Amino acid sequence: MKVPYNYLPYEFKNPYPIFNQWKKLIKSTQFTLGPYIEKFEKEFAKYVGVKHCISTNNGTDALILCLKSIGISPGDEVITVSNTFYASVGAIVSCGATPVLVDCDNRYQIDVNLIQKAITRKTKAILPVHWGGASPDMIKINKIAKKNKLFVIEDACMGIGAQLNKKRPGTFGIANAFSMHPLKTLNVMGDGGMVVTNNDKLANWIKKFRNHGMTNRDNIEIWGENKRLQPLQAIVASHQLKKVKKTIQQRNINASYLDRKLKELFPNVILPPRKKNNVEAFALYMGLFKNRDKLMKYLLKSGIDVKIHYPKPLHLQRAAKNLNYKKGSFPVSEKQARKLLTLPVHQYLSKKHLNFMLNKIKLFYR
Ligand SMILES: *Cc1c(COP(=O)(O)O)cnc(C)c1O
Repeated sequence: MKVPYNYLPYEFKNPYPIFNQWKKLIKSTQFTLGPYIEKFEKEFAKYVGVKHCISTNNGTDALILCLKSIGISPGDEVITVSNTFYASVGAIVSCGATPVLVDCDNRYQIDVNLIQKAITRKTKAILPVHWGGASPDMIKINKIAKKNKLFVIEDACMGIGAQLNKKRPGTFGIANAFSMHPLKTLNVMGDGGMVVTNNDKLANWIKKFRNHGMTNRDNIEIWGENKRLQPLQAIVASHQLKKVKKTIQQRNINASYLDRKLKELFPNVILPPRKKNNVEAFALYMGLFKNRDKLMKYLLKSGIDVKIHYPKPLHLQRAAKNLNYKKGSFPVSEKQARKLLTLPVHQYLSKKHLNFMLNKIKLFYR
């Protein structure tokens, strides 16, 4: 038996509903912006529960747009978490600002108790990440931000489908970013992203900047860039959005089952605490596993496609050299890099797949 990590072959098994829409688009030749983009943006804004959605090229561009819209520029510091995907930090650097990292907690989320200490006179914003599809304590983060007069920008790239206190990621910060990369819970056939905000002024600026700073064909108001989503992908996105509720439900069913069974293997397996007020999207199902590297080899050999997010901590990457962090700077993140394993949890796995995986893990520790 094989337990695949990649669910995309199942996800797009029946592409004909998408093809039918694509045919209409091709006939219309509206290949940039246009009605399919606007339709998806409306749908997604409604899904999140915000006023505005501006679709983008990808999640990284969405982050950059958020940061630029609040004026993040050289000399500014932006606080984010040390165990995120490179793009959270890359987006800050791309605005010419300095990323300031903070360690994570045992839920793999930014440790809110370490944020205040990281704030300096140069700090302009906090960029918390909904890592793996779980949510950091956004209430506390917003309190800290308010007290220190900082902006909050959510990196909700993995957060589609999650809920915190019945509110969706994307409703806590002033402008917030999502990704539709093929490995996220809402995925298109390539790259895609969105910014969401309730702020009219920021929404207008982002919309303009995303499209060369044009107000119309013959007038530009600011020097912008081209960060538009492809209408071909907007069609895929609308199609996928209809399925997302089911996707998250099934991922939660799978994750609860794994939780229940893996808890029996404590302390060889240590799972993150699950918060009652946080519905997780389970973009990643992670745990800390004793003898991780050996277990990983064994599982891969057994046909179970496990991953590590990530084996080399971000602050120890060559790109991060100028940030002057060293080994020991973020002990929790570093421990996770040594022990963490990501198991397949996606919506196309059957109980058989999960039991096969669980049995192999049990066998390993016996
Ligand atoms: C995927 C991801 C991004 C980047 O999104 P892209 O669409 O790949 O550019 C940024 N931050 C986090 C936390 C992500 O998981």
